Amino acid sequence: MATLEITDLHVSVDTEEGSKEILKGVTLTLKSGETHAIMGPNGSGKSTLAYSIAGHPKYTVTSGSITLDGEDVLSMSVDERARAGLFLAMQYPVEVPGVTVSNFLRTARTAIDGEAPKLRHWVKDVRTTMSELRMDPTFADRNVNEGFSGGEKKRHEILQMELLKPKFAVLDETDSGLDVDALRVVAEGVNRVQDKTDSGVLLITHYTRILRYIKPDHVHVFVDGRIAEQGGAELADQLEAEGYDRFVPTGEPAA
Ligand code: ADP
Ligand code: MG
Ligand code: MG
Repeated sequence: MATLEITDLHVSVDTEEGSKEILKGVTLTLKSGETHAIMGPNGSGKSTLAYSIAGHPKYTVTSGSITLDGEDVLSMSVDERARAGLFLAMQYPVEVPGVTVSNFLRTARTAIDGEAPKLRHWVKDVRTTMSELRMDPTFADRNVNEGFSGGEKKRHEILQMELLKPKFAVLDETDSGLDVDALRVVAEGVNRVQDKTDSGVLLITHYTRILRYIKPDHVHVFVDGRIAEQGGAELADQLEAEGYDRFVPTGEPAA
């Protein structure tokens, strides 16, 4: 059983007008096998939480802590975080020119394990996982994110997650821009990873529709860099029906 603990996290970002505090004291604990949904209006700081866990250099943690089984995550490099078992899928993944999906994944697996997986097993693992995700086998030979459609990017994220078997996965807006079929494939992938590996999942989403396929154990609603409300799956159902209006000061659009 692993624990990812975020305690009173304050995070600032450097802007042209100076430093701006975005996360204003976020506390949450995620355990193996649990799914926590982070929901909330646009601009409430959801992605900032993901980037802070990932160690993105633009985001400065000014106080508070993030620990993984008691180890200080904030003092780890981005690679060390991956080796410790954290997986981050980003809302805007970057292209990696000249590197195929297959090599990219094998390199990532090698970085985590400290040794390269046996090629024969690896190729079989990649093939099996891709077929479960209903991906065309030629996808493995394409360059990472080069010309990927929205659906392909998301499937690639889930493929990474399935093959890297993280202790904790942070999925930011994995459902944005997906049609219903693709959404279901992605959701099935997340559920399969949890069944197989008991990963904890932090599922960041503005929309409630992916939560029809992935049942969260806990729902946290972000508003203005804080958790404004917490509950179980029923809170997501309520937000689906009512939107975020009651969390947003009147006069501002609940984007
Ligand atoms: P969400 O993911 O909930 O939509 P974000 O974490 O992306 O919210 O953004 C929260 C707030 O922080 C927004 O007001 C956004 O403009 C600001 N912000 C986030 N990242 C940056 C950045 N790199 N530079 C400037 N402002 C940023
Ligand atoms: Mg909780
Ligand atoms: Mg975001």
